[in-house]
Amino acid sequence: MESLIKQRAAALGLEACGIARARAVDPAAVQRYRDWIDSGGNGCMDYAARYLDVRDNPGLLLEGARSVIVVAMNYYPARFQPQDAPQFAYYAYGRDYHEVMRDRLQQLAAYIREIAKGGDTRCCVDTAPLRERYWAVQAGVGFVGRNNTLIIPGKGSFFFLGAIVTTLELQPDEPCRLTCGDCGACEKACPGGALTGGKPVDASRCISCLTIEYRGELPEWTREAMGNRIYGCDECQRVCPHNRNAQPTTVPELQPSDEFLSLTAQEILAMDQPAFSHLFSPSAVKRTKLTGLQRNLHHILKK
Ligand code: SF4
Ligand code: SF4
Repeated sequence: MESLIKQRAAALGLEACGIARARAVDPAAVQRYRDWIDSGGNGCMDYAARYLDVRDNPGLLLEGARSVIVVAMNYYPARFQPQDAPQFAYYAYGRDYHEVMRDRLQQLAAYIREIAKGGDTRCCVDTAPLRERYWAVQAGVGFVGRNNTLIIPGKGSFFFLGAIVTTLELQPDEPCRLTCGDCGACEKACPGGALTGGKPVDASRCISCLTIEYRGELPEWTREAMGNRIYGCDECQRVCPHNRNAQPTTVPELQPSDEFLSLTAQEILAMDQPAFSHLFSPSAVKRTKLTGLQRNLHHILKK
């Protein structure tokens, strides 16, 4: 059954798939997360401090959980914005990954229930309190780099993660034991100084978090750090040697439109709500709202 699940995942365009035994999160990992929250490392991401008990135990997400299936979907673009345009993070180039990943997970979960002739499943895409990167490591999909992303050996980190928690007892894969070693390129390149000493990201210094999640006036120091980024930041992934050979995604919904790729600063400043909704309501960019996007652009133009 495990190989059938992996074959189906691959057929759905999910480039990696691994299985972990569902059990309580390792106490050391629990403590690291708690320390990160207690030190304010989650910045304005208040949601990260909610449902801590559920985050530590997938059995609270799905009663009787026995296995966690983790999958990864490539989002590395085939086409890019011009470098002098206000920049969006690659993950936001196409349709909202929550929808795209949920669709693939639901198809995979239906297939699993069909071949297992039963079993409960719960699909998790980012919004559920499941520690996806932790489970991806346990499932052998990859390791967590010093840039805090999940790195898939041979493929890199420009991947969305999704998970299916299930009551089915499946044969688990070996956890991934790789590490970054002494590279540190992401820490040197981070424009906000959010990455230090292999510790969890300091979200209050992370341009990605600030441009997307933060409400209100952006701190002055971010103007220089943002450069021409107005939605997210890819710097710690772009410099990572594991992404040197990143291959473009083949997922149709993640391909950027010509309209998006040709977007100029003037067009964003002149945008009204209908125009924003037309371009971004199918995309993850809606999270920052029109006011947030224009705030970010005004901020970097004040130079
Ligand atoms: S996304 Fe950008 S600001 Fe945030 S940790 Fe990575 S390089 Fe630093
Ligand atoms: S840039 Fe180097 S230290 Fe950072 S995540 Fe990649 S391999 Fe690890």
